[in-house]
Amino acid sequence: MTRWRYAAATDTGLVRETNQDALFVDDSLAIVADGMGGHAAGEVASAITVEAIYNGYLERPTIEGLLGAVETANREVLSDARANPDRFGMGTTVITVGLTRDGTGFSTPTLLHVGDSRAYQLRDGALRQLSSDHSVAEEWVRMGRLTADEALTHPRRHQLTRAIGVDADIEIDVMSLHVQVGDRILLCSDGLSNELEPDTLAKLAGAPGSLDDAVTNLINAAKMAGGRDNITAVLLEFDEAHEPARTINTTMASAPPPVASTVASRPRKSGSSITWRAGAGLLLVAGVVAAFFYIMHWYAYSTYYLAPDGKYIGVYAGQPNGVLWYKPKLASRTMYLSAQLQTPALASLKATISEPSLQSALNYAAYLHGLWVTSQSSGVTTTTTSTTTTTVRTTTTVKAKG
Ligand code: MG
Repeated sequence: MTRWRYAAATDTGLVRETNQDALFVDDSLAIVADGMGGHAAGEVASAITVEAIYNGYLERPTIEGLLGAVETANREVLSDARANPDRFGMGTTVITVGLTRDGTGFSTPTLLHVGDSRAYQLRDGALRQLSSDHSVAEEWVRMGRLTADEALTHPRRHQLTRAIGVDADIEIDVMSLHVQVGDRILLCSDGLSNELEPDTLAKLAGAPGSLDDAVTNLINAAKMAGGRDNITAVLLEFDEAHEPARTINTTMASAPPPVASTVASRPRKSGSSITWRAGAGLLLVAGVVAAFFYIMHWYAYSTYYLAPDGKYIGVYAGQPNGVLWYKPKLASRTMYLSAQLQTPALASLKATISEPSLQSALNYAAYLHGLWVTSQSSGVTTTTTSTTTTTVRTTTTVKAKG
């Protein structure tokens, strides 16, 4: 049996009026969710998510059970937002570690994650980040458009590309954790990781002494550093540890996977007079042709951009001018009216700035709409297009205060 001791705390911070983070921890499950959305909707999204994951895990403490629980959380946040229009646009990150049974009689820790809340592992004073942020800047690092150093200060490092409660299809990172006795795992919202350098995180989270003291010191340090966001920290320390029987480190999509090419599985004609060399040559040509079409199709639809769709802002998949015969297609329709955009935001729309994912494009549409909402409530006209200084949370906080 793997066992951990734990301590946890959450704090509103020094700037926000409410705490939209939520957490749960006991001796087999730990969850941190960082909600976003105006009119207290962020609190609702994070609370629904924590409760759904707790219930799902209780019912089925396996990797599949945890995955199902995160998918249920996503559906519940979406359906709550549909039933309560004042919560439209709410969402939340989630990061969770559960002890999952794998059929060998042992339970070992599995990490699931959507968004930019983080998990770190501490061993012998060294800190290792386990999760990758699902943010525009981090996606660009993975695509090779930014270096890791550039991403640290990039204005879009906080703009999420994945979150709970935004789309019916959701991608969830799943990772088996390899822990030893004495290891610590820190789960935290970005209110902690944005305020403290990794060295400080390592020093405070790994300090000898009680876990409670370590958590209190982490929260206080984040407040001393500015406390600009809600701050949540959950610290686990392993008393017993087992290696997982099967190791998983992957991204699970709730959407069906794309249909694979059928070239390789086409049955051979019986009595064919084609020699094996000719057959191999044909297969090679077919493979090259299939690869060409596959790459062109991937490239043509690998990015998204915003453009008017009738009265509304639409999200289009593809390159604005098309690639070969692949024309852009409408991927999603937002509820935001184009007429409600300010002039700089309209210019951003016309610029057809490409976004790395549908989620990122939807977030950007919400941001542009948020600028208009702010201008209506404050009477102030925005004078900058601000296309590279957006964060989802800036948008939602502005709405909350409007
Ligand atoms: Mg936060």
